[in-house]
Amino acid sequence: MSNTSLFHYALPKNEPILSYAHNSVERKELNKVLTTFLSQKVDIPLIINNKPVKTNKTLPLLQPHDIKHELGKYHLAGETDITNAITSCLQAKTKWEAMSFENRANVFLKAADLIAGKYRAQMNAATMLGQSKNVYQSEIDAICELADFFRFNVYFLSQIYQQQPISSDGILNRMEYRPLEGFVYAVTPFNFTAIGANLVCAPALCGNVVIWKPSPSQMLSAYWTMQILIEAGLPEGVINLIVGNDIIISKICLQQKEFSGLHFTGSTLVFNQLWKQIADNVLFYKNYPRIVGETGGKDFVLVHASAQVKQVATALIRGAFEYQGQKCSAVSRAYIPASMANALKTLLVQECKKIKMGHINNFGNFVNAVINEKAFMRIEKYITIAKKNSEAKIIFGGNCNQSKGYFIQPTIIETTNPKFITMQEEIFGPVLTLYVYDDKAFDDTLKLVNETSQYALTGAVFATDRSIIDKASEALAHAAGNFYINDKPSGAVVGQQPFGGARKSGTNDKAGSMLNLYRWLSARTIKETFQPPTDFAYPYMNSKKR
Ligand code: NAD
Repeated sequence: MSNTSLFHYALPKNEPILSYAHNSVERKELNKVLTTFLSQKVDIPLIINNKPVKTNKTLPLLQPHDIKHELGKYHLAGETDITNAITSCLQAKTKWEAMSFENRANVFLKAADLIAGKYRAQMNAATMLGQSKNVYQSEIDAICELADFFRFNVYFLSQIYQQQPISSDGILNRMEYRPLEGFVYAVTPFNFTAIGANLVCAPALCGNVVIWKPSPSQMLSAYWTMQILIEAGLPEGVINLIVGNDIIISKICLQQKEFSGLHFTGSTLVFNQLWKQIADNVLFYKNYPRIVGETGGKDFVLVHASAQVKQVATALIRGAFEYQGQKCSAVSRAYIPASMANALKTLLVQECKKIKMGHINNFGNFVNAVINEKAFMRIEKYITIAKKNSEAKIIFGGNCNQSKGYFIQPTIIETTNPKFITMQEEIFGPVLTLYVYDDKAFDDTLKLVNETSQYALTGAVFATDRSIIDKASEALAHAAGNFYINDKPSGAVVGQQPFGGARKSGTNDKAGSMLNLYRWLSARTIKETFQPPTDFAYPYMNSKKR
């Protein structure tokens, strides 16, 4: 029997962040799990129809901070596995979309509780070891943000379902929020366990079936996420996890007639390629696919002379160097008034000297390793350019060492050229570039901030003068999808700061909000007339006279 009531989902509260202070229960539990994970070798299969699929091709699972100590291996999909995954999704579709909302929703609510409870330590250990996050960075991502995505999305979707059109006498109008026809392809980045899960589960909650292609650098936490979803009751085939050759998987998924949507987060370059592929296939699809992509950033902090130097220094250090600058929202260019420059630079250098870098096992480390060799080489290349160029000087850091892991010292560059390469291009590492402007040139600097990069993801202004805050908010209206006043531009919280940027930072469909969910719905309007007319003629036709 389908449900006989309309159920109410209350506005959830954000999952509290645990402290992991010395001797805390959560720290002891986490340490036990870290030790277990480090002492065994995991064997990660593909997951199709909720079943493990092992192939004859594998790759080692590395720890970015300790590259000689492999965590295990993961299996790579061949062409048959990819088509099997698509077939499995399409077979699961009819039942999943017909399932009542509360049954679908409760899978994700239960998964949120498992993540925040029974598997908190495992999700953290997987994220810390696999993606090189310290405990705090992992806790805010793999636990709090992920549980929040699941719980808030249920609430938001229940609100959407309640939005109904008006009716008139003798007529009832309704809206049904159907899922898309076909399947959704979710291609997810390495840097947030929560983003990976959300890109898959937001469409699934809406009744869609999803192929999940995670980043190879997020395999351990992706695998745990899948296992938790299965334990929470996810039916077979609703989400199938495959990894392998990115180009082949995408080619096969995007050439299916039933491909109905891309949910992507990653670099602008890859998103552009996928968009073009979709465009090339457009005549072939049954529906026009939804394309949602959150991409790169070149996030700014604009400091006004009225700002307080200590607040600015703290925001820059946390904003630029937490998780090694590998947040799409990380500050990577800052504009400093000349009157504050000396004091700020002295303070930044003094504070940066206190930063410890190393293995995630040492809880004293603020900074860990960057994700892989490719990232290490890319970031090192930008630092070398700055070292060699007369328009730039390194005022802190600059050391890169990959003998044990992919370690890049937090690095601050000062440039005299506001269009210097490290002011414009996304580096995606712990590198911050400062440009010092003449206090009198604040208005020109606003223009510079707005026009220097192709991206428009996050940005912040620091000022105490209210008229300056007002002016900056207006002048930078399109420079950032998430704009901060006297705060670092990273650390968005689900339900509080819906996240996404415009320009070359993506389609700005705001993960963690209703706006994103609408993209996975295809509404059907139903008009029902209780007394249908039985005569075609209208009253005005009764008389010929005007
Ligand atoms: P990436 O573009 O290298 O990879 C993203 C995904 O695409 C991965 O699953 C990867 O395996 C896949 N991929 C890579 N090349 C592909 C190809 N040729 N064809 C098909 N798929 C391919 O990005 P990343 O290194 O995982 O993540 C970092 C990037 O993500 C940064 O640019 C960052 O700004 C962006 N990001 C943006 C947001 C946001 O909300 N705007 C959030 C997180 C990360």
